[in-house]
Amino acid sequence: MKKSEAVLERPSSAMSLVTMKALVYHGPGRRAWEDKPLPCVQKPTDAVVRVTTTTICGTDLHILKGDVPTVTNGRILGHEGVGIVEEIGPGVTRVKKGDKVLISCITSCGTCPFCKKGMYSHCEDGGWILGHLIDGTQAEYVRIPHADTSLYVLPAAADEAAMAMLSDIFPTGFECGVINGQVKPGDTVAIVGAGPIGLAALLTAQFYSPSEIVMIDPDENRLEVAKSLGATRTVKAVGEDAVRAVMTLTNNAGVDVAIEAVGVPATFDVCQGVVGPGGRIANIGVHGKSVELHLERLWSHNITLTTRLVDTVTTPMLLKLALSGRLQPLKLVTHRFRLDEAMKAYDTFGSAARERALKVVLKNA
Ligand code: ZN
Ligand code: ZN
Repeated sequence: MKKSEAVLERPSSAMSLVTMKALVYHGPGRRAWEDKPLPCVQKPTDAVVRVTTTTICGTDLHILKGDVPTVTNGRILGHEGVGIVEEIGPGVTRVKKGDKVLISCITSCGTCPFCKKGMYSHCEDGGWILGHLIDGTQAEYVRIPHADTSLYVLPAAADEAAMAMLSDIFPTGFECGVINGQVKPGDTVAIVGAGPIGLAALLTAQFYSPSEIVMIDPDENRLEVAKSLGATRTVKAVGEDAVRAVMTLTNNAGVDVAIEAVGVPATFDVCQGVVGPGGRIANIGVHGKSVELHLERLWSHNITLTTRLVDTVTTPMLLKLALSGRLQPLKLVTHRFRLDEAMKAYDTFGSAARERALKVVLKNA
């Protein structure tokens, strides 16, 4: 019996007797590819999705380092992916069995006060819970709460690897970096960090025709990629050297928008150092430590500082652009594995500089 048949034959409320394979967190530094019970519909608004494509995020590496203590032993990781709806609860009306769907990294009920404000990241019964507070997508199957508002139906022919880039990194780079940074035509933009998120910000910033996009990173390979994706200048430096280089490039004017796409004090400092009068610092990075806010310099410079957890409110718009080919998410995919090679995929993604890895895609054949 195929697993998919087993799911359909099993009463939704029954304890699962059938198992699947999943990438499971077992405390800092410990992960395993192991058997877990098949998920089932627990609430009327749930769907169970057979994961066909997933990917690994920098956030998963943070979890494995022990930086996210709310992730507990035994949790299936992953908050990105594409799949086929296997089972829906009786309260699900917009997605149906057999639909190919994009799984949003943010779960939203659609009706609570935060969802009504478009702030899905703070949904009272959702937010970032996948692969965090509930089991995630690096598995053969995943339970998605509030399926109607947390899944996006895709055309059957949509490229799954490209679509999986829209679960998290593109909305994150766009909403937290480009929209919050208010990138406008003619602006000069500096992006600190040329990883997948920084590169997603680079690609989506170009919707607004900035005059210059300066990409800052110590990794030569990533800067080469950034150039091929539209960076007008690159700075291979960190810290004060990076600030000096950007100030030279801008004739000491500084930039209109400084996007922080790493999440450590040193890269936040670069943003504070390069932002010009009237400029915006848009933070994307996940910070685990305090930064020093240089208000003694910034107070008189009309600076806006923004923070945001991605809401994924722009997902429908990004989907249109990706499906039409105007946005090409596949440019960030460097490695492909089978889902059952998840352990190896983590090794590769964890050595990103050496492996020249950006996004690694895992396909459940
Ligand atoms: Zn992520
Ligand atoms: Zn909500």
